[in-house]
Amino acid sequence: MSDATVIIAGAGQAGAQAAVSLRQEGFEGHIVLLGDEPGLPYQRPPLSKAYLMGKVEEPGLLLRAEKIYADQRVQLMPGERIESIDRAARTVRLASGQVLGYAHLVLALGAINRPLPAAGAGLDGVGYLRTLAEARDLRARLPNTKRAVVIGAGFIGLEFAAAARAQGIDVTVVEAAPRPMSRVLSEPMSRFLTARHEAQGVRILLNRTVSGLRGEQGRLSGVELDDGSVLEADLAVVGIGVLPNTALAQAAGLAVDNGIVVDENLLTADPAISAIGDCAAFPCAYSSQGLMRLESVQNAVDQARCVAARLAGKPAAFNAVPWFWSEQYDVRLQMAGITSRHDQAIVRGTPEENAWSVFCFRDGAFLGAESVNKTADHMAVRKLLAAGVALTPEQAADPSYDLKLAVAAIGK
Ligand SMILES: Cc1cc2nc3c(=O)[nH]c(=O)nc-3n(C[C@H](O)[C@H](O)[C@H](O)COP(=O)(O)OP(=O)(O)OC[C@H]3O[C@@H](n4cnc5c(N)ncnc54)[C@H](O)[C@@H]3O)c2cc1C
Repeated sequence: MSDATVIIAGAGQAGAQAAVSLRQEGFEGHIVLLGDEPGLPYQRPPLSKAYLMGKVEEPGLLLRAEKIYADQRVQLMPGERIESIDRAARTVRLASGQVLGYAHLVLALGAINRPLPAAGAGLDGVGYLRTLAEARDLRARLPNTKRAVVIGAGFIGLEFAAAARAQGIDVTVVEAAPRPMSRVLSEPMSRFLTARHEAQGVRILLNRTVSGLRGEQGRLSGVELDDGSVLEADLAVVGIGVLPNTALAQAAGLAVDNGIVVDENLLTADPAISAIGDCAAFPCAYSSQGLMRLESVQNAVDQARCVAARLAGKPAAFNAVPWFWSEQYDVRLQMAGITSRHDQAIVRGTPEENAWSVFCFRDGAFLGAESVNKTADHMAVRKLLAAGVALTPEQAADPSYDLKLAVAAIGK
């Protein structure tokens, strides 16, 4: 691989990291980083937070300055869409007609918004929030928005709700499940976030789905719910999840199962193709749920580093501890581990003081924790999980049990 070409398909969080990490790991071959969005690779997390609130401008979103790609001898090709992969010839064909050869192809294609299956979804005033272009459009609309409806109480929907509410907009969130983020958050945390939003004046309607969007002269005027009621709205933001970009891989004959299937080394069944980030379904060392797909900066960055090390001749199985964060009002939520299947949630600290954690267990086995403004808990949990320390429910429930000491004891 030393003088070979690595093509990285998708210039998002994972792709940009893979390019830079390849050089850091000592790879001396040719690196091509191509993606279909215009401009330099940027961060998505601020799109639903600081950028939406006007606290950061577009240059502040860039993952790295342009000079770094040049210094690292990365051939950056923005605005280029890969249309097909020829695995036998080891080439990719771009929409521009160009054909590029590779020794190794890293698929870092991310995901697209799950479209709202309702009439009127194409009206002016109905938006999504994944790309900079979409965030730019929403940010420009906020000053003229009186009433916004957020469809889906996931992280992006709730972060948008918080940002819009902070700008004085009347916000209603519509969620099909009985509580926000029921699949990823514990009940106490979900209740806490709901209360936090309601205290700020956001209305959260649970067990409700959107049956259609109403418009006047092509512009959104209201959101119709399954009980027949209509919420007046001049802006609706759809946040009902994403679909991984698997079509290219599938058309090339690679296995797809809610993501491009890879092994513990993040390699597909084709030894010349890896997949990383939001588009990859991998066997997660911290979950017994079979293949998993994670949508987080940590996952994108750590998987990129793992593949870069392998391509530079230092193979190792991927086993980074999963973690994630969200920001809403004065709540900095940090999660470590895969806690979705917990059957016991133990609260440590005081929610009333806005600094606390929920420790999650299944059949007594420690899965991870959710922390609000408790970075020390979060960091300790990441270290305990990485070291395989089996924290017990009794220890988590005991306020005098010192997590710092438990971390200090690792390896002793
Ligand atoms: C609004 C928002 C807020 C978020 N907040 C957080 C947060 O607070 N914390 C956190 O951990 N995570 C957060 N995330 C998730 C995180 O940003 C993603 O998990 C991460 O960006 C995934 O990186 P990726 O490289 O796999 O995919 P992406 O960053 O999506 O990059 C994939 C790129 O591939 C391109 N592409 C797709 N198909 C092709 C093709 N055929 N040819 C060429 N290019 C193609 C796409 O256009 C895209 O640019 C947030 C995401 C969003 C959208």
